[in-house]
Amino acid sequence: MNDLEIAKSVKPMPIRKITERLGIPDEDFEIYGRCKAKLSLDIIDEEKITQSNLILVTAITPTPAGEGKTTVTIGLTDALNQLEKNTIAVIREPSLGPVFGIKGGAAGGGWSQVIPMEDINLHFTGDFHAIEKANNLLSALIDNNIQSKTRNLGIDPRTVLWKRVMDMNDRALRGIVTGLGGKTGGIPRETGFNITAASEVMAILCMSKDLEDLKKRFASIYVGDRFDGSPVYAGDLKAEGAMATLMKEAIKPNLVQTLGHHPALIHGGPFANIAQGTNSIIATKMGLSLGDYVVTEAGFGSDLGAEKFFNIKCREAGISPKATVLVATIRALKYHGGKPLKDLTSEDLEALEKGLPNLLHHLESLRSFGIPVVVAVNVFSSDTAAEKQLLLDYCENLGIPVALSEGWEKGGEGCLNLGKLVIKAAENCQYKFKPTYALDDSVEEKIKKVSRTIYGASGVVLSAKAQSQLKKIDRLGYNHLPVCIAKTQKSISDQEKLIGRPRDFKITIREFEIAAGAGFLIPIAGEILRMPGLSETPAAEQVDISPDGVISGLF
Ligand code: ADP
Ligand code: MG
Repeated sequence: MNDLEIAKSVKPMPIRKITERLGIPDEDFEIYGRCKAKLSLDIIDEEKITQSNLILVTAITPTPAGEGKTTVTIGLTDALNQLEKNTIAVIREPSLGPVFGIKGGAAGGGWSQVIPMEDINLHFTGDFHAIEKANNLLSALIDNNIQSKTRNLGIDPRTVLWKRVMDMNDRALRGIVTGLGGKTGGIPRETGFNITAASEVMAILCMSKDLEDLKKRFASIYVGDRFDGSPVYAGDLKAEGAMATLMKEAIKPNLVQTLGHHPALIHGGPFANIAQGTNSIIATKMGLSLGDYVVTEAGFGSDLGAEKFFNIKCREAGISPKATVLVATIRALKYHGGKPLKDLTSEDLEALEKGLPNLLHHLESLRSFGIPVVVAVNVFSSDTAAEKQLLLDYCENLGIPVALSEGWEKGGEGCLNLGKLVIKAAENCQYKFKPTYALDDSVEEKIKKVSRTIYGASGVVLSAKAQSQLKKIDRLGYNHLPVCIAKTQKSISDQEKLIGRPRDFKITIREFEIAAGAGFLIPIAGEILRMPGLSETPAAEQVDISPDGVISGLF
């Protein structure tokens, strides 16, 4: 059976049963159809949060298909519930770009999925639409102001950084000219579209505490400059009230269930290469308020998702995980050992062995946060007994707890050993994580510390443009913000071809973006696309719906 057939073979429980089990009073949820609900922010209980156990799932450097963090997150959630721990999965919402592109959805896989997977992977409860509207309202207000005779703020159209967004992989919109059509069509200017997940509105949603905080952050979005060089913020355009109004439902986390009928919160979906890569702080805190354990995921490898999870999200939210699960797959390790992507299903102990330094590097950089790490080997049917043994022995020799994770094939049942190791690690973790840098380090120092400690780089090079932007960042008073480095997910370094464990490389920062609303700076290493394109054979070609409404081809 494929993912969708498996997902459809299990009848979801009415969502009210799940809210009942969580003890959520009637006034604190709203039902969206039979198996989805939105939850009120009143559920967040700061006292309970400190007593609950947060578990972060991250991964080694992935192949393009993904190595199974979401799958392990959901399998582990079901396993911990089977082990009598009241556990909630808290994850990101899929973007339609990847759903119709190469990667597919993000609702897990096999017998470790959240359901209804087709809804979650499509429009779900409309949060992405709300984000897109809030983002594009600000765009419309900017262009309208540039056109205005009486209320013109003097925005220099060439400096406007704020782009429109759409939730689609559509490279044709990456660079466009707007305002054509003469005087009534606006002032022409060069701009473009980003994918919705890359919108600062998405980043803001995921960093906000509540509606008030969301509005404040919207007001501080840095839009561009006036002709006199002074900065313009969304607040100068009085945009924040309407933007926050559009987000009044989107700010509430969505409750669904796993295939094992355990609760899962899905909220927000920033990518980890260009943004912070984890679900909302609100949803994580809500999960911690409702459960004794929360299993959550941060995107791509630990160099991207986990680093930002700790240094940006946990620092801002004042939370700290009790254990980190590092997902490794035999196929990705063989790939890092030099085996071509198409040959990863045949046994190759030599390539596997050669790929291990990638795993070791992720273990070492995660260790810098001081939180216990457990390795989960996400088992594929092509993995051989000898390959699995080699990997298990390697971790055991390092003294790292390790378990096979067979959630894809067996659901929660397949993750019980992993679950036991996670409980043991969490119960023994009495301390808070150690950040990689201090907020009052200089911006350059922050980048250097992440590059050295997390990427294992020998140094950092700032382009001339980046250096001059640092002066502007200083002038605007943003030195104290954390850094959300945008870089490739395909390598620990900033060069995608350097697989395995690259050495003797420097990180080159081309330029900076200022996400003042989200509350971080984005140093950009290499070419990072914020509007992806579809692949040669888009997944969209396989998606279909029958006359009676049965969907096929989603994965
Ligand atoms: P990530 O969250 O790390 O990006 P996912 O959990 O979304 O990865 O998994 C990526 C893809 O791989 C999904 O299509 C999923 O169904 C598939 N997958 C994950 N684990 C396995 C496995 N053990 N065997 C086969 N396919 C798997
Ligand atoms: Mg995922």
